[in-house]
Amino acid sequence: MAGKTVAILGGGVGGVVVANRLRKLLNREHRVVLIDRNVWHSFAPSYTWVMLGWRRGNRISRDLRGLARKGIDFVAGEITAIDLANKRVEVGEQRIPYDYLVVSLGAQYGTGNINGLGQAWTFYSLEGAEGLHEELSRFQGGRVAVVISSAPYRCPAAPYEGALLLDYYFRNRRLREDVELRVFTPEPFPLPVAGKAVGEQVMELLAGREIWFSPEMQLRSVDNQKNRLVFADGTESPFDLLIATPVHSAPQVVRQSALLDKGQWVPVNRETLATEFENVFAIGDVTAIPLASGLMLPKAGVFAHAEAEVVARNIAGEIKGGKTEWVFGGQGACFLETGYHKAGYATGHFYAEPAPKVALRQPSFLWHWAKIGFEKLWLRRWF
Ligand SMILES: Cc1cc2nc3c(=O)[nH]c(=O)nc-3n(C[C@H](O)[C@H](O)[C@H](O)COP(=O)(O)OP(=O)(O)OC[C@H]3O[C@@H](n4cnc5c(N)ncnc54)[C@H](O)[C@@H]3O)c2cc1C
Repeated sequence: MAGKTVAILGGGVGGVVVANRLRKLLNREHRVVLIDRNVWHSFAPSYTWVMLGWRRGNRISRDLRGLARKGIDFVAGEITAIDLANKRVEVGEQRIPYDYLVVSLGAQYGTGNINGLGQAWTFYSLEGAEGLHEELSRFQGGRVAVVISSAPYRCPAAPYEGALLLDYYFRNRRLREDVELRVFTPEPFPLPVAGKAVGEQVMELLAGREIWFSPEMQLRSVDNQKNRLVFADGTESPFDLLIATPVHSAPQVVRQSALLDKGQWVPVNRETLATEFENVFAIGDVTAIPLASGLMLPKAGVFAHAEAEVVARNIAGEIKGGKTEWVFGGQGACFLETGYHKAGYATGHFYAEPAPKVALRQPSFLWHWAKIGFEKLWLRRWF
C-alpha cells in the first residue's frame, strides 16, 4: 500500500490532537502534515488568568515547530485555498496534496455589523488578554461592561467566568466598591444550551457577587465618543471599560471553499464528523452540529478534542484496514472559574433527547486545582 498523506488544517485544539494521535497510530510511510499561520499554540482556557496577570503568554504557549521531533510535518503559513476538487491545499505558493483532509480552522474574529466594537477590550485572544491586563492595572474604578456581542461564541461559560474573576480581582485590589460590574447578553439566560436550571445557577453566582445581569440585550453599536453601548431595542448604557466577545464567523478560507454551502458553518455527520466530501472531515469550532433542543453544540475545546480522537482513529483504521466505527457521542465538560481559588464544573450529554442533560457542580477548590492540572497536562501531553 502506497503511503498516504493526511493534511490537518489548523494547529489549535482539534488539529494538535489529530496530528499527535495519527502519528502514533500510523507508521512513517504515511505523512501527517499540520498547517497553521501561527507557530504558537496557546491554551485558551487560561486567557482569563492572563487577563488578571496570573499567567504570562509564554507560560501557556507551545511552539508547533517542535512537533517535527515526533514526525509531524508542520507547515507555517496562511492557508489560502482548500481545493476539494483537486484534493489539495494551497498555502501561499505551496500546493499540498492530500488523501485525507481534517479541517480544524476554528472561528475567525471580527466586528460583524456592530459599529465601534473594534475598540472594545477582549480576553478572547491571547494578545487581547495581555492588553486587557495592562488596562486593568491602570483602571481605578467605574462601570465595567462585559458584553456578549453576538452568538455563537466560543466557550459559552467564558464571559461569565471573566465577570466572576473580575469581581474577585477588584475585591483583591480593594476597588470593588468603586466598580459597577454588569454582563450583557443577547441570550435569555446564561448558557441556554445547558438548560434553564444551569442558567439559574449561574445567575445566582452572579447575583451573589453583585454582578448585574442584563439578558436579551443584542448589541447594535458602541459609541466610543460618549462611552455608550447601544442595543437593538434602542436602550443605551454607559461604560468606562468595555470588555466584549468578538463576532465569530467561519474563517474566510473556509467560506470561500465548497465546504460551506448556504450555512455559516461546516455541516458534518455528528457522530463521524465526515463532511459531504469523500475523506474530508471537519471538527471543532468551524462546524455546526444541531441538537435535539434546536440549539447548536457549543463551540468548545472539549468537543474539538473528542471529535479529533474519533476522526484520527477512523482515518488510521481505514488506512491500516482496522476498526473505523469510532463515534463522537456528544459528551463534554467544562470548568467555570469563580475566583477565591474555586471553580464550578459542568458536565453534560449534549446529544441527549429531547434536550441536552447538563449539571453544574458548585464551585469548590477541587475543580480549580483540576483545571490547573488539566492546563499542565495539555501543554505537556501534545507538545
Ligand atoms: C477565553 C476562552 C476560554 C475558553 N475556555 C474553554 C474551556 O474552559 N473549555 C473548553 O472546552 N473550551 C474553551 N474555550 C474554547 C476553545 O478554545 C475552542 O473551542 C477550541 O480552541 C476550538 O478548537 P479548534 O481546533 O476548533 O479551533 P482553534 O483552537 O481556534 O484552532 C484553529 C487554528 O486554525 C488556524 N487558522 C485559522 N485560519 C487559518 C488560515 N487561513 N491559515 C492558517 N491557519 C489558520 C488558527 O491560527 C488556529 O490556530 C475557550 C475559548 C476562549 C476564547
